[in-house]
Amino acid sequence: MLILITSLGFFIRNINRLRRNINIGNGQTEPITNKPERWRNMLRIALGQSKMVTRPIAGTLHLIVYLGFIIINIELIEILIDGIFGTHRIFSSAGVLYGFLIGSFEVFAVLVLISVIIFWIRRNIIRIKRFREVEMKGWPKLDADLILYFEILLMSLFLLMNATDVEFQNMNNGNIISSFIYPFFSDYSIDTLHVLERSFWWTHIVGILIFLNYLYYSKHLHIILAFPNTFYGSISKIGRLNNMKSVTNEVNIMMGKAVESENSNDVKFGASDVTDLSWLQLLNAYSCTECGRCTSVCPANITGKKLSPRKIMMDTRDRIEEVGKNIDKHGEFISDDKKLLGDYISREELWACTSCNACVEECPISIDPLSIIMDMRRNLVMEESSAPNELNNMMNNIENNGAPWPYNQQDRLNWNE
Ligand code: SF4
Ligand code: SF4
Repeated sequence: MLILITSLGFFIRNINRLRRNINIGNGQTEPITNKPERWRNMLRIALGQSKMVTRPIAGTLHLIVYLGFIIINIELIEILIDGIFGTHRIFSSAGVLYGFLIGSFEVFAVLVLISVIIFWIRRNIIRIKRFREVEMKGWPKLDADLILYFEILLMSLFLLMNATDVEFQNMNNGNIISSFIYPFFSDYSIDTLHVLERSFWWTHIVGILIFLNYLYYSKHLHIILAFPNTFYGSISKIGRLNNMKSVTNEVNIMMGKAVESENSNDVKFGASDVTDLSWLQLLNAYSCTECGRCTSVCPANITGKKLSPRKIMMDTRDRIEEVGKNIDKHGEFISDDKKLLGDYISREELWACTSCNACVEECPISIDPLSIIMDMRRNLVMEESSAPNELNNMMNNIENNGAPWPYNQQDRLNWNE
């Protein structure tokens, strides 16, 4: 009980920290309208994994691990009740139904084990390109591997727990897989088997509670955040850029349609740090699974430019965490002379983007790296007047000639002569 309460306490503390960090975003978001469509998106994309299966091998393996993990954790209800009330397999009185459920869990456990091993081979032996990019070195790689080891351990413990449970084996109801493991323990005394079963039981439940608390520090937070992320994800037409309220307001002031307010001078255009982004963009960053599907289709990345949309999301998350720790330490954010733009994401990366939207289309959980890139570019252009020469020339031409070309408006129809 103490372990359960402590781990739930830590989990709630981390959820509160997550909410606080996401809410440091002050940027504008589109209104959350059309809830029926949003619910459909969440059910189709997050629950139904519809975008995962566009890559059949990874998608199917992921589906097995995802379903297996959810289904096997139903067993957790029984484990928790047994742990709290000192009972043993409290639901076993359900007879055939119980056998069917435990049997299904055992089959899923084996399928999850196989899938996770294939995932590990893809990452560590075949070394698929999108897992080898520069941003996947160090902690991100270790994190991805650790989760695979965790899953192997939890599934093995579940099967071993069943295999060493003499009472369960004697029931011969649902031990579809564990009955084949049981003979390996046939030389052990009943007392030893009991100790083993309890050890596997304890390690299994403590392992799940550790996993729960590890989520916050891992890309695997997506198993929770994929749901709100797909619900709140943009439902506008793909490729449509949002209007900046700050610009509309400035234009209205210039045209006499609005009056300048006292804090007009504090208006900021675009984003240079995470506090300028919207809560949805920050939710996106926390939801990123680091799968690299976006980067693998990014034309800039494919042609060797220094841009990876996955890195944009990872950098954003790292910076939010840094700002969050700063707030934890000082009670409020104290400037640390750092910014997302420049210290994490370079101008070169931002200007390499073709704004093609391929990353947005490809993301399996509706993340929009392009919106962050565009907001940071807007900041570069409108706050720092900093853009590549080609763009500056074009913008000057539009300003002077009303067209992107360096010709006088009167000469427009010269080609016609
Ligand atoms: S929108 Fe930009 S970041 Fe996304 S795929 Fe296209 S070029 Fe890459
Ligand atoms: S943004 Fe989406 S596609 Fe890109 S790494 Fe994150 S989850 Fe994968």
